[in-house]
Amino acid sequence: REPRRLDVESPRGAYAIHVGAGLLADGRQLAEAIRGRHVLIATDANVARIQLPVLEASLRRLRPDLVIAVHCMPPGEAEKTLGRWQEAVAALAKLGATRDATVVALGGGVVGDLAGFAAATWMRGIDVVQVPTTLLAMVDSSVGGKTGVDLPAGKNLVGAFHPPAAVIADTAALSTLPARELRAGLAEVVKYGAIFDATFLDWLDDRAEALLAGDPEATAEAVLRSCRYKADVVARDPFERGDRALLNFGHTFGHAIETEQGYTGATGGLVHGEAVAVGMVLAARLSTALGRAAQADADRLLALLQRFGLPTRVPAGLDPSALLARMRLDKKADAAGLRFVLWDGAGRGVIVRDVPESAVMAVLAG
Ligand code: ADP
Ligand code: ZN
Repeated sequence: REPRRLDVESPRGAYAIHVGAGLLADGRQLAEAIRGRHVLIATDANVARIQLPVLEASLRRLRPDLVIAVHCMPPGEAEKTLGRWQEAVAALAKLGATRDATVVALGGGVVGDLAGFAAATWMRGIDVVQVPTTLLAMVDSSVGGKTGVDLPAGKNLVGAFHPPAAVIADTAALSTLPARELRAGLAEVVKYGAIFDATFLDWLDDRAEALLAGDPEATAEAVLRSCRYKADVVARDPFERGDRALLNFGHTFGHAIETEQGYTGATGGLVHGEAVAVGMVLAARLSTALGRAAQADADRLLALLQRFGLPTRVPAGLDPSALLARMRLDKKADAAGLRFVLWDGAGRGVIVRDVPESAVMAVLAG
């Protein structure tokens, strides 16, 4: 199967998103994306064991001229810190990286955000090639240029818009991804259908078994279509002043759940994609309650998420008023009142201001 390619506009120039099985072993797209001589491969310990040897071998075979260093961090969101960013830029200094150096971000969203931020800040900005190895990173975080790290005060509080020089999504890498991480990524795929294209929801419904089984053709198609939806809205609104906020469908509720659980995805709580699945169900219910959409739309979304094995209810033990308090503090709330991304039915996401708290409470408690 030929890899597929999508060309995307960005404030840093056009870039290509390559999607296909075996792109790391092949290496051509990666080798072509690197301009200078210095390369820092940033990754985490899991991915370093599994995908790094393949990527490194390809680069050394196709580009023997390169000076390559590897920066490896422990896995997990808890490592997306200024301390790890400092280590990454120190590794660039040690490498003697010049302004034409490239950071290769090999891993999930955590590595992509941190390595992207190191690239954004080193000498005020060098190339980053995103090589996502989770479904979530392939369909979401590697595209669109948001980079950054977390602070104790909150997630992604320090960061920069820094679009990649290329994205290389090797769907073969997903074969080693835990099933739960795959399903969590599918929640973000469903999100694109929910806000942009009801026919994509039908397509996903038809391909649910294939996607869960890791079918290469269905997976590549889902990744490519997701990247296209995201790239289109990002091209219209690169700095999230308007439409791009539609991508937060399910996220105001989802973030409140994640924060209230203390980001305990690995130890009993929900991981990001799972929290977004619950959040999308709540957003759909809220839309119905506000008279914007039919109950049938909400039912259909619920059924699709359930087919993908995703949670669709607020976890037991979370207090609705505590969740509401979290949402008041959400970045997406502004002075006027609660702002939500809702829908006017499947495929038609809409940003709604001044949502009454009573309606939100009713949905949380229901
Ligand atoms: P996300 O992409 O969902 O934001 P992370 O970057 O935290 O998440 O990655 C999730 C977990 O999956 C991490 O422990 C990471 O090391 C691991 N991981 C990433 N890619 C793969 C892969 N292709 N195979 C197995 N494990 C992977
Ligand atoms: Zn998300």
